[in-house]
Amino acid sequence: EARRSNGGTVCRFEPAIAQATHQRARLVAGMREAIARDELSFAFQPLVDLNTRRIVQVEALIRWTHPTYGPQSPAVFIPLAEESGLIGALGEWGIETTARFAAQLARETGRAIPVAVNVSGAQFATTPVLSQLLAAVDRNGISPSQLLVELTESVLTDEAKLVRQLDEIRNAGFRIAIDDFGTGYSSLSYLHNYSVHELKIDKSFVQKLGSERYSAKIVQLCIDLAGELGCAVVAEGVETEEQVEILRDMGCPLGQGFLFSRPLPQEEFLQLCNAEQVSWSACGSN
Ligand code: C2E
Ligand code: MG
Ligand code: MG
Ligand code: MG
Repeated sequence: EARRSNGGTVCRFEPAIAQATHQRARLVAGMREAIARDELSFAFQPLVDLNTRRIVQVEALIRWTHPTYGPQSPAVFIPLAEESGLIGALGEWGIETTARFAAQLARETGRAIPVAVNVSGAQFATTPVLSQLLAAVDRNGISPSQLLVELTESVLTDEAKLVRQLDEIRNAGFRIAIDDFGTGYSSLSYLHNYSVHELKIDKSFVQKLGSERYSAKIVQLCIDLAGELGCAVVAEGVETEEQVEILRDMGCPLGQGFLFSRPLPQEEFLQLCNAEQVSWSACGSN
């Protein structure tokens, strides 16, 4: 009403909360259309061996540019998709698209580099994630070991249904990574319910390495814990050479972050892999 009376363009008279509600509704509507019109995409970020800098894995990160509001952060629209029920369709699209990319990556590089897809807790609760994964590898002619399922630590509970779902996913040959490790409030006993392939140390700790003793201790604990559990460990959010040095000293073999590469559009990521391939053959280490 405030808008109509002042010409329909200014909404500064709306209380902030109502504005936020409108904005949410607009985003949800936009997301629904984006899924239908195939406007979503993925950016791909490499995980590298901290010693050789070679790409050992890839993470698919969803991207969405709203036709009028511009690029949207997944940290904002993924939670909205979860609340509005759109996460089911979005998640299924994500699994299929990731599998298609994993197939292309293997074809074009000659290496079956595993690709990670983020799967939210709401997807496990409301959709058949395992069936979607199996259908996607089948359609794209890849092996389950070429896909990693990333879920954040806070999703882990001792809920029997989730434990069973993750067991089945692992037994089918897919790999499982725990994302944002160290920020969840899961107790170690929860972690014990699951057998995972990879812990990804949250970037908030990695970024304070060298400046905050507490963070360094958490990072070391995560590395040691991964060793105890017999799973791989990755540092997220690596931005400086100093962080690389500290991480290597601590015994962390893998990293992901802007220092190595920003998340890249598909074509650029393939170019990066191919350039790497060339330099590795040139120095005879291939
Ligand atoms: P995440 O899975 O922990 O992904 C890592 C985030 O850190 C990404 O943000 C990435 O762009 C960012 N990042 C990578 N390296 C650096 C660095 O060196 N410094 C800094 N400051 N940031 C770095 P992004 O793409 O905005 O994604 C945010 C979150 O949204 C993801 O966190 C993930 O939880 C969620 N997400 C992204 N794509 C999907 C998806 O397809 N499905 C679901 N369910 N969630 C997704
Ligand atoms: Mg992730
Ligand atoms: Mg993370
Ligand atoms: Mg996250």
